[in-house]
This record gives sequence, structure tokens and C-alpha cells, in this order.
Amino acid sequence: MRVIGQFHNTYIVCESEAGLILIDQHAAHERVLYEQFSARSSDALKADQGQGLLVPETVELGYREAGVLEKMVAELKDMGLDIEPFGGNTFVVKAVPVLLAGREIQPVLIEIAEKIAETRTAPGLAAALDQSRMVMACHAAIRANQALSGVQIKGLLDQLDGCRNPSHCPHGRPTWIHWETRALEKSFQRIV
Ligand SMILES: [Zn+2]
Repeated sequence: MRVIGQFHNTYIVCESEAGLILIDQHAAHERVLYEQFSARSSDALKADQGQGLLVPETVELGYREAGVLEKMVAELKDMGLDIEPFGGNTFVVKAVPVLLAGREIQPVLIEIAEKIAETRTAPGLAAALDQSRMVMACHAAIRANQALSGVQIKGLLDQLDGCRNPSHCPHGRPTWIHWETRALEKSFQRIV
């Protein structure tokens, strides 16, 4: 497969023997990060997960969100997200996963709590942890409308190639669509 370039700074355009491929860069990166977050929950990788913040950040959440997150403190810490209740609905963020470094953390926490409340999964259960990983992957991933260098594109495609389930993002959207050369030739009426 050969990279042709980026379309609208949102899709990666590639060609192969078989045809033309468009890859959604956000969905693809989300898949890569989700699998990394999942793998890093294993004990062996706990050590290098979190990135301490120089100045711990405090975030103020809603009553319901705070209630959900309070029950998940231990599990989130295992994922590299070290938060501590600080009275009322406030939490101190002491460390974040390296992959989330530089991203705003309050929206991540709010979305994790919302997703868990929304899906009615109890904090601490596998489904709740999975929701948390998806939220973190989404926030850490390359966005649409983001220009990528050739090196970044190659890095992303290599990582996607190493995924267990590369064809879909964790939410179930396809990461790529493709057109076979034959189908294109038919559309142009080069062949019948
Ligand atoms: Zn997704």
C-alpha cells in the first residue's frame, strides 16, 4: 500500500494493487490508542503509565459526575489517571496517562462519568472501564482537520497494522473504506 496524501486534512488517501483506500485518521488513531490503553491495564505496564503533573490540577465536576468518579478512583489510577477527591465535587488530578499529556483533562473526566451514567454500567465493572478507555482514546487521538506529516501518517498506519481489530474504531465506526479498481473502472465505463 502506498500513501498518496491527505484529503481535507481528515482522511489519508492510499493506493494498493487492489484499489483506492480512504482512512479516517481520527477513527484509526482512536483504535490504536484504545488498544494501547487496554494493553497498558496489565500489571506489567502499570509502572510507566502515568505522567505526573508539575502542578496538580483541580477540576470541579457536577454532583452526579463526582459520585460516579469517586467510585472509580482505583480503576482509573490503574489506567494512569490519578485523581483524588478533594471535598465537595472537586478532584485533584495528580497524574494523567502520557498519551493524554497536554490535553484538557476536565472534559475527559466529565465524559467518562457521563458515559458510565448513560450506559447504566456500575463504576468498576469491565464495561465501565471500557467506556473510560474509549473516552481517553477519543480525547488523545489525532483530530479531523489536522495536517499530518509523512512520518506521522506512516507511524499511524504502522500502528493500525499492529492492531487486533484495525477495521473499526472502538465505537464501531469503520476506520477505512475502499474502492476496488474494477468498481472504479466500471464507474468510468472503461469496462462493462
Ligand atoms: Zn470512534
